[in-house]
Amino acid sequence: MLTSAGPRVLWYKDTARPSPVMPAVPIRAGLAAQATPIRRKAVAMMSLRPPSGRRRFQIRWLLFILALAFATAAGLVHSDTPGGHPVADGDHALTLADPWLWDHPLTRYWSVRVPERPFDYPRSLRRDRKFGQDYPYQTWGLVWESPQAVKTRRIFVHYQHREDEYLARQATAALARLYWVAREYLGREPVSRGSGDRDPQVHVWMTRDGEAGGEEFQGHLYLYAVQEPRAPAEWLREIAHEYAHAILPRIGPYHEGEPWASGYLGERLLLKWLIDNGETAAWGERFSGPDYMANQIAPLRDRYLNSGPHAASLVQMDAAGMEQLIGFALAIEAAYGPRLLREALARLGAEEHPGAFVRSVGEALTAQQPDTILLDACAFIPARSPGAVQQPDGGWRFERVAYWVYLPPGEWEISVDGTAPALLQLERVALTRDAPAGTFRGRVEVGAWRRLDLAASVRGTMVLRRVRFQRRAPDADS
Ligand SMILES: [Zn+2]
Repeated sequence: MLTSAGPRVLWYKDTARPSPVMPAVPIRAGLAAQATPIRRKAVAMMSLRPPSGRRRFQIRWLLFILALAFATAAGLVHSDTPGGHPVADGDHALTLADPWLWDHPLTRYWSVRVPERPFDYPRSLRRDRKFGQDYPYQTWGLVWESPQAVKTRRIFVHYQHREDEYLARQATAALARLYWVAREYLGREPVSRGSGDRDPQVHVWMTRDGEAGGEEFQGHLYLYAVQEPRAPAEWLREIAHEYAHAILPRIGPYHEGEPWASGYLGERLLLKWLIDNGETAAWGERFSGPDYMANQIAPLRDRYLNSGPHAASLVQMDAAGMEQLIGFALAIEAAYGPRLLREALARLGAEEHPGAFVRSVGEALTAQQPDTILLDACAFIPARSPGAVQQPDGGWRFERVAYWVYLPPGEWEISVDGTAPALLQLERVALTRDAPAGTFRGRVEVGAWRRLDLAASVRGTMVLRRVRFQRRAPDADS
């Protein structure tokens, strides 16, 4: 919800513990904001400063780098001592596996560091941008791509009370994993804001003020009332949500709920990929992946699939529209894999309207090379696929099943990985069947979203893993 608490103060925040559907976002009125709060609309503080201020900033940076070099040389920067906390110490490897993206699992690395003398760093680097409050303590997240690679400090978690160190270390460890997941799945990472921000980092400011929840402000993440306990999945959700605001195209503005879909979309994608990779203990205690999928992913995805890409609700600017759009993105991820989502988001550029995002998915499918579109059998339309049963070896068993597919113009051959269907219909396209080969063929004149219906022979069932669309040269005799 967008709220005005004064003539120059206009902002929103994200509260903890949302309802399973879309939570209302209440007002946060305790602290006074000084800048226009709507994310990214406000120009980064740096570029608003006069040249002298910028020089001052550069000098501070230089001092910071010198102080850091000194601290490192003097052995003051250390990794945490082993034992005690469930947040593991030293270097960590994160292995990501997704058959849509990589032939072999990918391993990335991270560690959490605590600077021994945070007071050695310039005060400007210990003060937050939004409220100008001092945060005397920091933890750092280091990330690196291979065992030989240079460790880069990309994550800063700032906190105000020494007692919050453990929490800060947990937040750093969680964000390090989210950093890699977002980067490897979506190609998204913190971006440079303002001329002085040469090394794109993400800063988290943990305060005991306010009410439990988070906010993103100019690429900075705020966590409020951090002394209030949250469930492990709730901490992860809050951090993933605010980080997603910082790195994803925002999509909106919606006039109900919160203005930008990026937070709720991103938290679902990032948490799903953590679950896919067995990282449900990213906040120490493990949370239930199946419960999260059943409560946060499947309902939105299935609701979109049942109403389809032509439903007006997909581009409605209210809370229901945002849910529908998130369901659309989740269905795209399930049907075509994360790569298509990544390309569609990259194509958005400065466009923000949900319609532009829907269109960019079609464009990404059109640009796909080679001309093969693979559709995962799991992304079926529930209302049109009664009695679907997941198979232990992957794939699904159906009597009949329907999908949404965007096909660019051209001559297409349709086949399946699994049991060839007895019947296959593509909305508004005449198909011919090559029975021995188990394939269907037809000409699509206009690129559009169409419904694809498949059925097994009478009283029979078919097991499908993927549906394959292969573009062919026009056939002279068909
Ligand atoms: Zn949000």
